[in-house]
Amino acid sequence: MSISGTSFSVAALTALEILDSRGNPTLQVDVTLGSGSVGRAGVPSGASTGSREAVELRDGDPERYGGKGVLTAVGNVNGELRDLARSRAWSSLADLDQGMISADGTSNKGRLGANAIVGVSMAVARALAGSEPLFTALQPTGVTPRMPVPHFNVLNGGAHAPNSLDFQEFMIAPIGAPSMAEAVRAGAGVYAKLRGLLQKAGFATGLGDEGGFAPDITRPEDVLALLVQAIEAAGYPTGRTGVAIALDPAASEFHHDGAYHVAGESLTSGDMIERYAAMVADYPVWSIEDGLAEGDWDGWVTLTERLGDTTQIVGDDIFVTNPEIITEAIGRKVGNSALIKLNQIGSVSETLEAMHLCRKAGYTQMVSHRSGETDDSFIADLTVGTGCGQLKSGAPARGERVAKYNRLLEIDATTDLAYGLT
Ligand code: PGA
Ligand code: ZN
Repeated sequence: MSISGTSFSVAALTALEILDSRGNPTLQVDVTLGSGSVGRAGVPSGASTGSREAVELRDGDPERYGGKGVLTAVGNVNGELRDLARSRAWSSLADLDQGMISADGTSNKGRLGANAIVGVSMAVARALAGSEPLFTALQPTGVTPRMPVPHFNVLNGGAHAPNSLDFQEFMIAPIGAPSMAEAVRAGAGVYAKLRGLLQKAGFATGLGDEGGFAPDITRPEDVLALLVQAIEAAGYPTGRTGVAIALDPAASEFHHDGAYHVAGESLTSGDMIERYAAMVADYPVWSIEDGLAEGDWDGWVTLTERLGDTTQIVGDDIFVTNPEIITEAIGRKVGNSALIKLNQIGSVSETLEAMHLCRKAGYTQMVSHRSGETDDSFIADLTVGTGCGQLKSGAPARGERVAKYNRLLEIDATTDLAYGLT
């Protein structure tokens, strides 16, 4: 069943406090619909969050999990949200999402918690899919599902690793792969070669939060050179006909006191843009996410003018999957692509609305995991169903990361959907 245009009722709704991949508490939500169909969701959690993200409700009790417990959010699902969900029939998932948003009563889901609301929304979406694959239930009208280019985060820095690298994510994207299965094989192959190169150069091969290596390299350009070596060593052409590179510097994290602090240098917005222009010229970088800080809208306009014709300019912390902010960004020609994270906005239907706005405006979309994850592979189906052509879910390693890539392989094996960017 589709999540829109299907009326349903909720028979049972429960939440539980579980652990995410970083060892922090998060929610697992279970729902049973009146039809008997069941759905479960695991709620992700970010570390380098945008300031305008929907509120992740944490208990703040220092005696439990350093204040990070989610028993209040769990209680909100098991109390108020359960009562609401069971109070009447719903005409669609969007209807229930709006009901929860109204009950919360804030503009950022801060009272009941976006972690509680998104968990319910995801679990109900799964239950509505029933025996059909989730991606077909999420597929918007008029959209053709598609297998996405996976963006493997193979080298971690910033808030995701205890090293000296300021840029957060260095991803490899097998854009030129002939199929989903070959794209996954390319990701694993380059990852293995990179491990060997790091070992040979005497770097530690410990992992960051998203499963990428976290060596003590300082200059982003040195990482790019290493990635090119790893791609070539694995036997692939570099760039869009083979394996390209995507960056997520997460620049809000190294922007302080009006300057960008990269590898010991203090840079203006303009300097930063020129630095990216040089990276795009010298290395096969096809996409830059959060190249500038979330408050630097003028810089974003300039960055988009300077590089947007050749390079995907993705807004994450600046857009926070928020339809209102994305509408403003489109109007001001800020970026040409949006990162899509369910828990940034806090419901499935608002996430689909954000993606719809992007499609209409010609902005590309990359669906994303969070640095704190569970083994829930919901985002793999969301990516395929919306046909957006891009998913980032960390390294081709660690259970919570490969759960998403393995789900893509499973969908691919049972369908004949086209692979690649849109
Ligand atoms: P986060 O990082 O999940 O820690 O916010 C992911 C990202 O910035 O894309
Ligand atoms: Zn990001």
